Order: sequence, then structure tokens, then C-alpha cells
Amino acid sequence: MRYVSTRGRAPALSFDEVLLAGLASDGGLYVPETFPRLEDAEMRALRGLSYAEVAMRVMRPFLGGSIPDSDFAALVAAAYAPFGHPAKAPLKQLDSNLWLMELFHGPTLAFKDYALQLLGRLFDHLLRRRGERITVVGATSGDTGSAAIEACRDRDAVDIFILHPRGRVSEVQRRQMTTVASANVHNLAIEGTFDDCQDLVKAMFNDAAFRHELNLSAVNSINWARIAAQVVYYVWAGVALGAPDRAVAFAVPTGNFGNVYAAYVARRMGLPVTHFVVASNRNDILTRFFETGVMKMAAVEPSLSPSMDIQVSSNFERLLFDLYGRDGEALAADMRRFRETGALAASDERLAALQALFDGRRLDDAGTLAAIRETYRATGELIDPHTAVGLAAARAGRRDAAVPMIALACAHAAKFPEAVERATGVRPRLPSRLADLLELEERLVVLPNDLARIQAFVRAKAGRRAAA
Ligand SMILES: *Cc1c(COP(=O)(O)O)cnc(C)c1O
Repeated sequence: MRYVSTRGRAPALSFDEVLLAGLASDGGLYVPETFPRLEDAEMRALRGLSYAEVAMRVMRPFLGGSIPDSDFAALVAAAYAPFGHPAKAPLKQLDSNLWLMELFHGPTLAFKDYALQLLGRLFDHLLRRRGERITVVGATSGDTGSAAIEACRDRDAVDIFILHPRGRVSEVQRRQMTTVASANVHNLAIEGTFDDCQDLVKAMFNDAAFRHELNLSAVNSINWARIAAQVVYYVWAGVALGAPDRAVAFAVPTGNFGNVYAAYVARRMGLPVTHFVVASNRNDILTRFFETGVMKMAAVEPSLSPSMDIQVSSNFERLLFDLYGRDGEALAADMRRFRETGALAASDERLAALQALFDGRRLDDAGTLAAIRETYRATGELIDPHTAVGLAAARAGRRDAAVPMIALACAHAAKFPEAVERATGVRPRLPSRLADLLELEERLVVLPNDLARIQAFVRAKAGRRAAA
């Protein structure tokens, strides 16, 4: 299994090279040269298996033999062992043929744990084998950061630097990052937006000297291994509800498009999926694109679902690559134009192909609160604002009542207690293992949106540890 860049100019790499490289050297994202196929019989054989066993079988083809099966099985088992629910990703029925997949049973109570708990272990495994160390740099609008920090904390071969937009992540999210007392964990609060943070991270990767000096690596959803790990729960849910003998549909609260892209990969591997509902908040660049075929940047507006407050969804490029018939040169030219002009237009033919499979839906803050309230009233479930956006989109985006619709619950309600309390009058409680979060001491440094200052900080901290 080789991986190629969406911009057509970077060398093809193996799984372990892609794992450590993150972004491709031509600015593109790595995708498999061809999608592996899960045959119907293989899918039926997943019925009744544990989550870890399903994960093994779904991810194995992506490794291309770069990790021995027994090692990989041990890494997968260790990654999901600490989760707070034995099913790991339980499905809960909310209405006739409407299901919620709970993806908040990991250590930081958000879906990113499902990929990052494994990613941290994969990094560790490969680095120890190679006798190397890396510097992980990432941008977060909330959940990625804490999940990445939990995955990398206390690992000898790793320093981790997480940039978040100052004042734009919830208190619980910030504290989940800043209260981790590990010498290799560095939190940078940037005076800017999430897109600024993401641009800074990209700029660090595009600085080849800096990238090599520090052996930079990414854990953001641009890392292919994260996508591969997220494919697992789509297959898991589909099989639980009858795949491959019955098709399903998914509704995914979307920011960087990593999660819903993983759903698309599951479909490319053979999972029968009728369509995907891409749920956005008021930051609706994707909704507008799916409606009109024109992707146009706009300013980021804060919302009740901050992990979706972004205007450029980096993983969308992976979908565009397929839409462009895998013509990396053509895509690279259009992405350059998009950066310059802030707009990208799809041909009628490409728009029709997209609309057959994707349905973009948006929900504003008032609608989000109403969805939380109504779900609580009808089912007794407390859902977080991101889940609410997805659930409302799931209801609005159904095409066939006979097809099970699976909405993703991407965060625990207690990560966003203010919004949930405002909607329902009930303050959701953190699980007991996180009860002391609000008392622990915070560690973070505030920095301006200034690449040189941030690089100096990273160099000083990571260099010091490497020399020690
Ligand atoms: C990260 C996140 C999202 C967005 O997921 P993408 O993969 O970036 O599209 C949505 N909801 C929650 C709670 C998240 O943490």
C-alpha cells in the first residue's frame, strides 16, 4: 500500500512514512493510491466481534505490512482498553430508524480519542524502532488538542506543541489541555482565530529547514492514520445495523471534514452508504458549496459549537482529489487559486456528483439550542451542541425512511455545560474520572499570531529536551 499526494508532486510513501510526515512536501495531503476493499463476506464476518477486532481488520490493509500483525493487535487493544464503555462506540436509538453513535467514551470525551489514542501508540512504536524523536505540532479549535495531548503525554520520544485560539475554546476544553502536568506538553494560546493557528502550523511545516531540524509531525486530521482509525466506527455501526445486506446513512457534525471524509472512505471500501449529511453551524462554507458549487471563504463567526468554527476544511481536498479524477496538477492549480481569490467553483458535472452523495445542512445557535431541548424532552438524552447540529441535520437530511440514519455524537454534553444548561435547565456532569478538572493548575503561554516568535518558542523548548 502506497500513499500519493493530492497535489501530485510529492513522492509516494509507505504507511509509516506517511504517519510521521503528516502533510506532503508539495503542500498536499496523502491518500492511498487505491482504496482497499472489504468484501461482503469479510464484512459479515465482523458481526459480533469486539471493537478492537473490527479495528484490526478494517485498518490492516492500510498498514501495507509496515507493522507486524501481533504488534498492531497489541497497540489497538491498548488504545481502546481505557475507554469508558465496553462497546467503545455504542449505538443508541432515538427514533424509528434514527440512531446516535456515541463517540465520547475516550479519555477526553470526544471522538478524536478514537484516532489519537491509537496514533500516539503508533508514533511511539515506530520511533522506538527507528531510534528517533519527533516534535508534534498541531492547531486545535478545541477537542483535537486535548485528545492529542492525552495521546502523547509522557512519551519519551515526543514533544507536543498545541496552538489554540485564545479565548475561543470552552473552559473545559482548555483545561483538558492546560492541566496536563507533563514536561513534554506545551500549550500555546494564540491571539487569533483557529484558521490563524492552522495557518501557523502549515507555515511551520512548509519551512523545510525548521521541519527537518525538529523532525516535525502532525496529529491534526490531515494525518492519514487518523482517517484510517476513524473509518473503523463507520464500518462498526454499519455492520451493527445490517451491512452489507442493508445500506445506512450518516450525519456528521463537520469542521475540518476529517470525520465525514473517513465515512466516505468506508463507503469506498465497500460499506453500503446511501448518502452523507454534512452538518455545519453558522460557519457554512461547506453547506453553501454543496448547494451552489461555489466554495467561498468568509470570516469565522463564533458559535455554540466551536469545534466547527472554521472556514477552510483542510480534508476537503482529499474528496476533491477524487472528484478531479485524481488529477493532482489540476487540483493544485485550483487550490492555489482558492488561496489567492478566496473562491473555488465546481463544474456542473462535479457538483452533481457531489450532490448525489453529500447533503450539506446548516443550523444556527437558536436551532442548536432548540435541538438540544427537543432531544432532551423526547428522549431524556443530554446532547452537546455539536451533536445537536448533526442530529438536526440527520432529521432534515433523510432521503429514505427505510434506511437507518446514524447521527454522530462527537462530544460529551459535559464539555459544553453552559449551552446544554441554557437549553434544558440541566447542567450535565463530567464523568467522575474528570471531576477534579476545574481545580487543577493550568500551564499555558500566550503568544501573538507571529510565526517567528512561535518557531523560536518551539525550538527553545523542544531543543532543550532533545539536548538533555
Ligand atoms: C473536531 C470536532 C468536530 C469536527 O470534526 P472534523 O473531523 O474536523 O470535521 C465536530 N465536533 C466535535 C465535537 C469535534 O471535536
